[in-house]
Amino acid sequence: MCWNFTMWGVMRMRFEDFINEEKRGRKLPDVILEREMRETGVPIELLRREMVKLLNVMLEESTKQYGKRQRTLSEMAGENGYLMANHRAKMLSEFSHTATTVALSLAESNAAMGRVVACPTGGACGIVPAVLYALKVHMNASMDELLNAFIVAGGLGWVIEKNATISGAEGGCQAEIGTAAAMASALLVYYFTHQGERCAHGAAIALKSMLGLVCDPVGGFVEVPCVKRNGIAVNIAISSAEMALAGIESVIPFDEVVEAMYRVGRSLPESLRETGMGGIATTPTARKIVMEMKKHKKFKW
Ligand code: SF4
Repeated sequence: MCWNFTMWGVMRMRFEDFINEEKRGRKLPDVILEREMRETGVPIELLRREMVKLLNVMLEESTKQYGKRQRTLSEMAGENGYLMANHRAKMLSEFSHTATTVALSLAESNAAMGRVVACPTGGACGIVPAVLYALKVHMNASMDELLNAFIVAGGLGWVIEKNATISGAEGGCQAEIGTAAAMASALLVYYFTHQGERCAHGAAIALKSMLGLVCDPVGGFVEVPCVKRNGIAVNIAISSAEMALAGIESVIPFDEVVEAMYRVGRSLPESLRETGMGGIATTPTARKIVMEMKKHKKFKW
């Protein structure tokens, strides 16, 4: 569904509204779930149980797929998670190395038709689980702590979906991978601070850094550049969260960054919005790969 700005008068929802409620002494995850209950009619307890289920799937799949070789649909990817898991990091922290490996592994699992949670989409499915898993493994985070941080990330993604878009076909990769990075950044900041305002700064810094990112999958497969973008974006989430933890603020408020992202998305030509007709999808190498696939009749086009 496409939300446009002319409809805002009746249905606008800002992350700032959640923060204002929090300032009145309420817990941010409660504020978000209560708002969702009002909009959907689903009781809070049920919403919480659904979030627990999703969280469990994310953690289970992160464990199962960690560093696994995958046979993806087009076979343009499938070894990235494996290579990262078996590489001794020279520059990344252990936390970032684990998160990068999970992000690559789950994105490859998605490309191999494995079980993933779309967060916010299948193409960006590795980023949020990656930070959840790294928090569990390296910070010994409890399920309750992870759940609350995950609800905050979900609320933030919901704001983006309502006021802009989370679809690559509509807004480019900034809307998919960019949203996931913003969610993951907010999740991390909430885990460490329990402060919505700081989460908004972390998310804004992450999303701003991904503005203009085009959607250009080679051959239309969610593999190249998608898998590696998961691995990169999780590090944008981690570094922007670290900045927010250090007290660095986004000059432009999060809700305004979301508006800007939507405007940028709408101004992208169709060739850069999931059609596979622009960006790296039309490089000589990409064309050659697609020709080879056609020649061997590997896929029906
Ligand atoms: S390039 Fe397109 S298909 Fe791939 S992850 Fe980004 S938005 Fe999704």
